[in-house]
Amino acid sequence: MRVGTAAWERIDSIGECFEEISRTGPVASVTVLADRFGRIATDLRVSLTDRCNLRCTYCMPAEGLAWMPQPQQLTDDEVNRLVRIAVEQLGVTEVRFTGGEPLIRRGLVGIVAAAARLDPRPQLSVTTNGIGLDRVAGALKEAGLNRVNVSLDTLDPARFHTLTRRDRHADVLAGLRAAADAGLTPVKINTVLMRGVNDDEAAALLQFALDHGYQLRFIEQMPLDAQHQWTRAEMVTADEILAALKPFDLRPDNVSRGTAPAETWLIPHHVDAAGEPARVGVIASVTRPFCGDCDRTRLTADGQIRNCLFATDESDLRKLLRDGAPDNEIADAWQVAMRGKRAGHGIDDPTFLQPARPMSAIGG
Ligand code: SF4
Repeated sequence: MRVGTAAWERIDSIGECFEEISRTGPVASVTVLADRFGRIATDLRVSLTDRCNLRCTYCMPAEGLAWMPQPQQLTDDEVNRLVRIAVEQLGVTEVRFTGGEPLIRRGLVGIVAAAARLDPRPQLSVTTNGIGLDRVAGALKEAGLNRVNVSLDTLDPARFHTLTRRDRHADVLAGLRAAADAGLTPVKINTVLMRGVNDDEAAALLQFALDHGYQLRFIEQMPLDAQHQWTRAEMVTADEILAALKPFDLRPDNVSRGTAPAETWLIPHHVDAAGEPARVGVIASVTRPFCGDCDRTRLTADGQIRNCLFATDESDLRKLLRDGAPDNEIADAWQVAMRGKRAGHGIDDPTFLQPARPMSAIGG
């Protein structure tokens, strides 16, 4: 179990966790976001908006979606308070800001700065489509951001337009460069391959990442699109991705994966921007699920806790916030929300239900 303050070091089994919580009340010091399978959530994903300036075909329709009304969205202060409670009272050690597109959120730099001032200091990252990153990379770094993940599914501007319904390919490449120049490293690229669309670019995208010192992660397309049109047949599997990367003669990674979503491979004869052996990753949520080691908890832009990416129910922290609840009551509700987490996403179950909330309003 990851340890935080001294109080944690006393705790070395889940049973003791709950005993500790019942003995010391909801929040005596640092408690943990434990679920009934013994997983501890220490990685908080915060969706800062459901809006986006792209219209990726595997995510939302061309006309966009009915965006969340502003009053429903958490204010910057509310976001900062929930992140503070998660870090100071619930053992969260990593915070990733997502969207929709988080760079659209005007208060992003201030929200990052507030999180960077927390003690213990969490690792801070952003998942973005890269548009506008060239303008804010420096300010984000100064505010305390550690690194970024940038989505890029093709090297071809025309295909980019087909995939995203926008002509912003050059902006994404400029964003990647600016992130590297600002030191938001390792700069990671997230790529979703779709059958017959861009699955012929796997090797070229990896070569591009190697040439620029970026780390590439291929992500299996997941049933989280707003249109509910995902099919397994159209999804490019991890096995197919690895087959397409055969020319790189990949080797098993010598570093343990831990709770990381990406399974990684070493790329012989290549080093990354830090001079480390170059790696490529595959996040195979569908064909090689990694739920057993999941350490993620999610906060939506309207203040709901999702204990899993595929959760079909949520817990409302916004109401508690706006009803004036004290920190420990909010922390307690967060723990209860995580305790009910299911063993896994259940995509293979005949009873699987795609969540009503689309990926664009959950975030990566
Ligand atoms: S699907 Fe849910 S349980 Fe599985 S890794 Fe993702 S968030 Fe965790």
